[in-house]
Amino acid sequence: MSTKSYAAQTAASLLAPFSIHRRDPLPKDVVIEILYCGVCHSDLHQARNEWHNTTYPCVPGHEIVGRVTKVGREVKKFKEGDLAAVGCMVDSCRTCPACEAGQEQYCSHVPVLTYNGPDKHSGGMTYGGYSESVVVDEAFTLRIPEKLDLAATAPLLCAGITTYSPLRHWKVGPGKKVGVVGLGGLGHMGVKFARAFGAHVVLFTTSPGKTADALRLGAHEVVVSKNEDEMKKHSGSFDFILDCVSANHDINAYLNLVKWDGTLTLVGAPENPLAIAAFNLIMPRRNFAGSAIGGIAETQEMLDFCAEHGIVSDIEMIRIQQVNEAYDRLLKGDVKYRFVIDMASLKQAA
Ligand code: NAP
Ligand code: ZN
Ligand code: ZN
Repeated sequence: MSTKSYAAQTAASLLAPFSIHRRDPLPKDVVIEILYCGVCHSDLHQARNEWHNTTYPCVPGHEIVGRVTKVGREVKKFKEGDLAAVGCMVDSCRTCPACEAGQEQYCSHVPVLTYNGPDKHSGGMTYGGYSESVVVDEAFTLRIPEKLDLAATAPLLCAGITTYSPLRHWKVGPGKKVGVVGLGGLGHMGVKFARAFGAHVVLFTTSPGKTADALRLGAHEVVVSKNEDEMKKHSGSFDFILDCVSANHDINAYLNLVKWDGTLTLVGAPENPLAIAAFNLIMPRRNFAGSAIGGIAETQEMLDFCAEHGIVSDIEMIRIQQVNEAYDRLLKGDVKYRFVIDMASLKQAA
């Protein structure tokens, strides 16, 4: 079916209305009318080809929530009228060790990403959530607990799981000192989860104006990273640091804060390589790691955890016509703390 969307046609072009085709549902497919879609910094990186792998036209969006309008005849988890969500993946090989372990994001054949991934069905590329609807196999579709605010739930599908998963993996909890670097979409969820898990949470920001918000969101302490004296006070003291920064920055300044055998994990994905001073890793045997989103089962676990603990994102709702402006604001760190597109606005698009 013909479906309205917003797409980037080249790395330099603004996102603009574009018509895409969605397949008729296969037996295990769920058709979802998209109600809200979050704006992830990864959307900006990819729309502008900052990771050098974008195929155009590119329809971004992988924080999708909506309502099921149709299901294939073998679908068991959903029926018409249910709420449903889709995150960063829509399929994977399902047979490799990572897939069998429920860690589809590490599929050795690369998971099929929600956009800018090779579409198994159309033979073209997948198109994301800046669109009216999406058709996804039920195995990659999430249930949304009824009591969560729907628009504020959308960012959980990427920003939420991307921070929840590493905090769980590295066993962040009571008695642990945890740093979160960058108070954007990912960072603000990292603060909320680390606090909910019972850790002592320190937020690092380049924006002094975000201090009060960081404390309100759950940080016990806030450090303005440009202040060297404040940074020094925390030398060698962290069990774990989660780096959520979207741009190039001095990673050594944060490695230096990790204690013996502690870990700094990158989830931020800047365009250019980060330089690491070898002795910053060698001396107190520090670990430097990365982490990608989370598997489908863990994403469902995270949504259920959020419902239980009343956690959602802090959002600023926009219309799709404002998405280019929202990208410009993201680049300035000017978002509190996730833009979410009200997809009803797409109906007004030319
Ligand atoms: P975002 O909302 O734009 O937040 C990024 C934050 O980084 C900003 O709010 C700012 O926080 C800080 N920052 C920006 N420029 C900086 C600079 N030059 N130096 C130091 N700090 C800077 O972005 P996001 O959506 O949270 O995404 C963050 C990164 O994670 C992106 O690179 C994205 O692609 C990546 N990502 C990775 C995964 C994964 O699976 N690993 C999943 C989703 C996203 P302050 O103002 O507080 O300093
Ligand atoms: Zn994302
Ligand atoms: Zn696999």
